[in-house]
Amino acid sequence: MHPGWEPVIGLEVHAQLLTRSKLFCACPTTFGAPPNTHVCPTCLGLPGALPVLNAEAARMAVKAALALDCTVRPKSRFARKNYFYPDLPKGYQVSQFDEPFSDHGHLDIALEGAEGEPPRTKRARILRIHMEEDAGKNVHTAGSVSVVDLNRAGVPLVEIVGEPDLSSPQEAAEYLRTLRDILVFLGINDGNLEEGSFRCDANVSIKPIGEARLGTRVELKNINSFKFVEKAIASEIERQKEILEGGGRVVQETRGWDETTTSTFPLRSKETAQDYRYFPEPDLPPVVLDDLFVARVRAELPELPRVKRDRFVTELGLSPYAANVLTQHPRIAAFFEEAATLHLDAAHAGRVANFIQSEVLRDVTTQGQQASIPVTARQISELIRLVDTGKISGKQAKELYVKLREAGPEASAASLVSQLGMAQVTDPKAIEDVCAKVIADNPKQAEQLRAGKEALFGFFVGQVMKATKGSANPQLVNDTLKRLLAAG
Ligand SMILES: [Zn+2]
Repeated sequence: MHPGWEPVIGLEVHAQLLTRSKLFCACPTTFGAPPNTHVCPTCLGLPGALPVLNAEAARMAVKAALALDCTVRPKSRFARKNYFYPDLPKGYQVSQFDEPFSDHGHLDIALEGAEGEPPRTKRARILRIHMEEDAGKNVHTAGSVSVVDLNRAGVPLVEIVGEPDLSSPQEAAEYLRTLRDILVFLGINDGNLEEGSFRCDANVSIKPIGEARLGTRVELKNINSFKFVEKAIASEIERQKEILEGGGRVVQETRGWDETTTSTFPLRSKETAQDYRYFPEPDLPPVVLDDLFVARVRAELPELPRVKRDRFVTELGLSPYAANVLTQHPRIAAFFEEAATLHLDAAHAGRVANFIQSEVLRDVTTQGQQASIPVTARQISELIRLVDTGKISGKQAKELYVKLREAGPEASAASLVSQLGMAQVTDPKAIEDVCAKVIADNPKQAEQLRAGKEALFGFFVGQVMKATKGSANPQLVNDTLKRLLAAG
């Protein structure tokens, strides 16, 4: 009987840096332009054209390195990675090889605990981060003709190479989500797997449990959605198990993921570093990142998602779940925080969080760094303030939100309330009249409730709310109903 297998997974992530121009020339990086309109002699690799490093790309790359606790090297070097492919006009890619600008960091990921255990944190090491340029794109047309678009050639990327510290497809997916969130919060990447601005390759091998030596690894290329990451890795682990348990050997190769057959397929035998004939890029001087530059970038680092989540829990009293939901995107987190802190009141923050989760988020769409939120933080804060002070009920707040959404960012919640005659009924006499009428209209239910069927209390509350179109103060309704029903 075999003791079982242990998967060993390491991820390599290519993330596009959100600069306006390419890594070594002034061509724009905007997506969706007509083919081959964002090109120049440098990114086309024409003879005599010289590259110049984009300082903004270096600044963003250093941000990523610092956020992942990597060491930033004061001096690093670009290298040529030589290979032939139609989307690579120079015949080599400018990358970093033996002297990357940063190395030896880590990423902490939150994992669900075992049955009944609290969540745990796992630290995955990062071997290195380097800068490199993207290639162009081959487009295969229906008429079996292939054309090349070089708009992407030279777009700046960072490659973040993880150590093989992950041991399940779920850990790999969580690593990827955590890393994506950090890069998006840093404002240096738009986190879009589907559009290829955040790409992932996975190195997967398995070994007998307890065995120190690693098995032969297979590289899974370009898995383009979070959903597929787990599936592709799980399927590859199963494939390797079957081979090894059948007495075979896993071949070192690069494989792709086919969503229709839900299995991996061979792409090519794995190249080794020697195949690329790396050598230092002679057209670029060494990259010098001095202490002052690094200190300045460090000072610009925003609060990272994990720290923000913890702070939302400890300072604003949110549940870990709510904190998680409200830090899924930097714009949403900023929107919530502004609305929650316009009034310094812990209950206010909690109510704002609940309201955003239950009403606002379904109207929010995010795209890269942007989020479209249909109301302003000030409006939501004001609306919740009207609930806090008993001016409107929770139900009216939902209606008011719909009106605010239609009225636009300039509209004031308080003036809408008076315009619409929405104010909550807090007059005890008015509420008592309604309650008394509801009890009189439902004598059978009142009798049953008095006989001990307490669940019927909710029925009476519901009837009063219906009669007042949701405008009665709920606490007052509760108190009055209890008093009248007890008096019987
Ligand atoms: Zn160019």
